[in-house]
Amino acid sequence: MKLEALRKTFPDGTQAVRAIDLEIPDGSFAVLLGPSGCGKTTTLRMIAGLETPTSGRVVIGGQDVTSRPASERNVGFVFQFYALYPHLRVRDNIGFPLDNEGLKKRDRNDRVCKIAEKLGITQLLDRHPSQLSGGDQQRVSLARAMVRNPDLFLMDEPLGQMDASIRLELRETIRAQQQETRTTTVYVTHDQEEALSLGDVIVVMNNGEIEQVGSPKQIYNDPQTLFVANFVGSPGMNLFEGQISSSQTFECDDLEVSLPQVAHRGPAVLGIRPEAVTTLIDPNQATLPGKVRVSEYYGDHHILHVDTPAGKCVVRTNTARLGGDGICLGFDADRIRIFDPASGRRVA
Ligand code: ATP
Repeated sequence: MKLEALRKTFPDGTQAVRAIDLEIPDGSFAVLLGPSGCGKTTTLRMIAGLETPTSGRVVIGGQDVTSRPASERNVGFVFQFYALYPHLRVRDNIGFPLDNEGLKKRDRNDRVCKIAEKLGITQLLDRHPSQLSGGDQQRVSLARAMVRNPDLFLMDEPLGQMDASIRLELRETIRAQQQETRTTTVYVTHDQEEALSLGDVIVVMNNGEIEQVGSPKQIYNDPQTLFVANFVGSPGMNLFEGQISSSQTFECDDLEVSLPQVAHRGPAVLGIRPEAVTTLIDPNQATLPGKVRVSEYYGDHHILHVDTPAGKCVVRTNTARLGGDGICLGFDADRIRIFDPASGRRVA
């Protein structure tokens, strides 16, 4: 699936999508990730044929489908709100997309039963949507999207309304189905944890543009922009604004870090993930002194919010600390990332 210089400007002048180029390899699970209003849904709707692009092209299976209506694109669409027909039983909701395929009643029923079994909703086939929980309604929506073997699955925040346990369960169902069928899937979410856990390819969007495309590992470990560094991760990357001097040292208040490999000079932002900050015992080795403001317990780890002379620093650690504790922080040199504050982009 390919998007070429795809743009959408709404009649009121809102530039929802600004000439994006994107290629998603066949058979992969791609996630469009970004904050509310960044253009994810509009992009997905243009791929589906539900929104007309202002300019650019949508290519599915090597064919330019930009001017084809949604009904001629063979895509399965799952929305956040289940959009089930309330007057139809579950079996007829699932079978609805097959109605124009001229199937014999028995074949249609077989297809419906097969997909219902896969999604574990066989026992619900004779109920109406109002008799289902939210999680089961979304299972029915998924079954309806899958029953036709589409070329492409498009999912717009399908788990947005679910509570945590159903979210996790359905996430696993969606991933397992995709791995089995290898149907190219584009999934929209603003939840970075969901994106990292589901996607083969993550497309981070911001303000109608693509910030970065990469595997979950690339996006997490090697963010190419300050936006990605801060948006991805829970909590996001620590960012310190300072200078890189001619002696190849990053300086920011009491923080001094030698960066022999970095060619950049002048204003710079140093980024480091909370788990790459260590709480050293020996103050002589510490890079940065600080005081724990708040300590949060997460069962298998603690998150410390530390005030330092260089600003706030979030630390993920296995060692319990108390609010008010004096602390010394060290940074894992291999995990330091440097950004140019002027462009917002990573420097080599
Ligand atoms: P969310 O997660 O909140 O749905 P999103 O990333 O999916 O956000 P879009 O729904 O694609 O973002 O919206 C992108 C921008 O386009 C937003 O500023 C939105 O207000 C605007 N927008 C969306 N639909 C229209 C419309 N029909 N007319 C005018 N502006 C629109």
